Amino acid sequence: MWKVPLFDCSLGAEEKQAVLEVLDSGWLTMGANTRALEEEFARLCGARQAIAVASGTAALHLALLAIGIEPGDEVIVPSLTFSATANAVIHAGGRPVFADIGGDHDLNIDPEAVEAAITTRTRAILVVHYGGYPCDMPVLRRIADRHGLRLIEDAAHAPGARLPEGACGALGDVGCFSFYSNKNMTCGEGGMVTTDDEALAATVRLLRSHGMTTSALDRHQGRSSSYEIVAAGLNYRIDEMRAALARVQLGRLVERNAERKRLDALYREGVAGIDGLGMPFASGPAHDGSCCHVSGVLLDPGLDVEAFRTSLREDGIQTSHHYPAVHLLHWYREHMDGREGTLPRTESASLRQVTLPLYPGMGADRVALVIDGMKRAIARQTVAERA
Ligand SMILES: *Cc1c(COP(=O)(O)O)cnc(C)c1O
Repeated sequence: MWKVPLFDCSLGAEEKQAVLEVLDSGWLTMGANTRALEEEFARLCGARQAIAVASGTAALHLALLAIGIEPGDEVIVPSLTFSATANAVIHAGGRPVFADIGGDHDLNIDPEAVEAAITTRTRAILVVHYGGYPCDMPVLRRIADRHGLRLIEDAAHAPGARLPEGACGALGDVGCFSFYSNKNMTCGEGGMVTTDDEALAATVRLLRSHGMTTSALDRHQGRSSSYEIVAAGLNYRIDEMRAALARVQLGRLVERNAERKRLDALYREGVAGIDGLGMPFASGPAHDGSCCHVSGVLLDPGLDVEAFRTSLREDGIQTSHHYPAVHLLHWYREHMDGREGTLPRTESASLRQVTLPLYPGMGADRVALVIDGMKRAIARQTVAERA
């Protein structure tokens, strides 16, 4: 087993109790817990509407369908993200167009690269708040408005992250969250769509449940005896067990994000003393407003990333990679003409990025173990180089 695992979702008695109460209630899907979760999550973001769904991918797919993406429409996305961001564009019938990141200091999509990627077919900009660090939304908003484009946030990493202008999920036209097990709040599988736009919200609600005009709850409570299908919808509903679990997690989110931030600050302090390593988002509004989903280092060019990760593994420290560049993954090479050299800053950072363990309850002692492990990993390389 790992001395320091990458993450630990640490579910407690309250989560168990919440799920058991749902089982005792006999109402298993889209009921009181789902409604309460939506209200509570909307409050967190300062958004008018929140719609709970089956996953972060479902949230992205619904958001893209709701803004009316049609075959041939281009959606600008980052490549330094989880593949679901781009996959969702494909499933909505659009074409993802990749834009580069800011650089080693800023792993978010670069607004200038976004503007340069706009064509007559562009319909939307889909940004990702990498690692919980908010993108430059005021600048992206101005670009979107200037070109008449929709602005979507993939906020899978960013529940509770904020800029002075507002919380992630309420900064674009629509926000998409994931409650997958390794995210800042989880219910196993789940997601959320947020928006201030009542029409968009109504479309998302409709498509979430088959395009049906009434819900099972309406029929159960005698408010309706039949239904119409007004759109060819999907089943992206969340169930009550997950909604209840997510509500408990949401109640702890602010406190747990603050703990992540303290751990991230300890990493930053430690990494500052190690030659050959850097951490992105060192300062500015993205740093200040981050919910610290990912703490990672970038190795200086020339260092051996595999050897670095192997050395940490031998010390019992688990690491990860956020992310292999999407445009260079097999399907994107085959079908979207993904090629090396097209996104130089993304490709360079992706090859040198290593994600460190980070989770509430990890404690300063485990951070110190990781920092010692990184020192050893770098020292081994410099010795090997000299030999
Ligand atoms: C996790 C994640 C998703 C997908 O969420 P699921 O709930 O796993 O479908 C999308 N985008 C990003 C950036 C993610 O990290």
